[in-house]
Amino acid sequence: MAKITLFGFMGAGKTSVGRELARRLGIPFFDSDTIIEEKFGNISRIFEKKGEAFFRKAEEETVTEILRKKGDFVLSLGGGAALSEKIRKTAITESIPIYLKCRVKTAFKRVEGSGRPLAKNFETFEKLFSERKELYESLPFFADTERKSAEEIASEIENFLSPEHFSKPHKAEISVISISETKKRFKGFYITDKNVFKLYRPLFSGRKGVSIPPGENSKTMRTVLSIYEKLLSYGITRNNFITYAGGGVVGDIAGFVSATLLRGVPLVAIPTTLLSMTDSAIGGKNGVNLPQGKNLIGTFYFPEYTLINPIFLNTLPASEIKNGSGEIFKYAVLSENGLFEILEKAEGDVFKSLVSKEIIAKSVKEKIKFIEEDPFDRKGIRAFLNLGHTVGHTVEKLSSFSVKHGEAVAFGTIVSAFYSLKNGFIKKRDYNRIIALYKKMGFSPPGSAFSYEDVLNAMMFDKKREGGTIFWIVPVKYNKCVSVRTDIKDIAKAYEEVANENTRN
Ligand code: ADP
Ligand code: ZN
Repeated sequence: MAKITLFGFMGAGKTSVGRELARRLGIPFFDSDTIIEEKFGNISRIFEKKGEAFFRKAEEETVTEILRKKGDFVLSLGGGAALSEKIRKTAITESIPIYLKCRVKTAFKRVEGSGRPLAKNFETFEKLFSERKELYESLPFFADTERKSAEEIASEIENFLSPEHFSKPHKAEISVISISETKKRFKGFYITDKNVFKLYRPLFSGRKGVSIPPGENSKTMRTVLSIYEKLLSYGITRNNFITYAGGGVVGDIAGFVSATLLRGVPLVAIPTTLLSMTDSAIGGKNGVNLPQGKNLIGTFYFPEYTLINPIFLNTLPASEIKNGSGEIFKYAVLSENGLFEILEKAEGDVFKSLVSKEIIAKSVKEKIKFIEEDPFDRKGIRAFLNLGHTVGHTVEKLSSFSVKHGEAVAFGTIVSAFYSLKNGFIKKRDYNRIIALYKKMGFSPPGSAFSYEDVLNAMMFDKKREGGTIFWIVPVKYNKCVSVRTDIKDIAKAYEEVANENTRN
């Protein structure tokens, strides 16, 4: 269970949704305004006699005190509570904050004539609404309340909060929990990077560990050696744990350190980027770079426990969200498990919305499906996960990695789809759906910066090449793929045509 804080403008339904949610979860419901009135008297009177500043101070104290209380509850806040940075921060650390979102007209209709002082005149109401909107939107999650009953919204939130567990091939869980709850899952020494450390200080307080510089350049044996030394100086034994919190870089390094130090120290994995949640943290691979190439050293080492918590996405830069979305787009085209349709329908800021958990869960499921059958990547089943990657890796390399992995993979996926269309493997209607989703997710082809020859040359270095051909994964439906032996010249040609078509548009 959890502590849940509901934010939103007056009329958003905080009280009715909050009550219903608390009833469903069997936990108490609190309304901050009611508690403030019990302590300080009638709110309108406080405003009149002591002014708004006094009220905001009283509100800040009361709300942070409630949030730090033990036990679970649903807390609905007054419309202006989001103005306080302290409230917003405490709500993220101690609870799951959800912004109940609705249009200004809907909100006004709901409170018009209720006698609330701020709801008398639409113009003032609208002004206040637009002033606060940005603050609400800075919160980790929102629930769209438009044209939905309190029961429906509460049920959607309940769904969002219910965790999903995987037991094979390793114990992983997708769970929306507060930072404080996340901390309880930590075991032993931590490994993180300096960005994550700064953003989530409370996670690491009172523990020993190592914080590495962020970025791919940290994935070296030098970093590994320095972590060994640090952890040994802390007296680490095989009875201890290592817990990592971070993206793919931290995961690769921490996985390798855990697998090799003292012949293996048990590991807890807490991926904090969209890409690591849906891809690199699943499947047990770790890796360290050498001057000769990326990930040339590494092992398969499964964490004892992996916690995927979407609350971390709140601080992730948009470019990193896009990076992860590329792999998610790939999973959608690979799988008939409904992911594609969910993404087609999703509205607004998808990874803050209540469907985010389901999108991540379905992506993880799709990856697990392939690795369960082939945990050590020996049977070629995992090859399906390479959809989009043959062209993707080429574009990444040719752009000297200025095109991010996820974007390159999404582009590679539409090149496969285009080839499939040209060869009559996929219907035009399905192809169009793939392209429409690609665009909806905010992707656009990197243009025809590289020539047919560049692409062909780069592909000659593909490890998976057999002579002039390669087993290529291509869609035969909008959500289903097959593996076909393909001439790499045809791949380069498909690349060129997709890239050119885009420049014309
Ligand atoms: P990935 O390989 O998963 O994309 P990286 O380890 O390269 O991830 O991390 C990408 C960047 O995002 C790094 O600068 C890292 O410090 C930062 N980062 C990781 N998690 C978060 C987070 N939850 N919020 C903000 N920044 C983050
Ligand atoms: Zn990938």
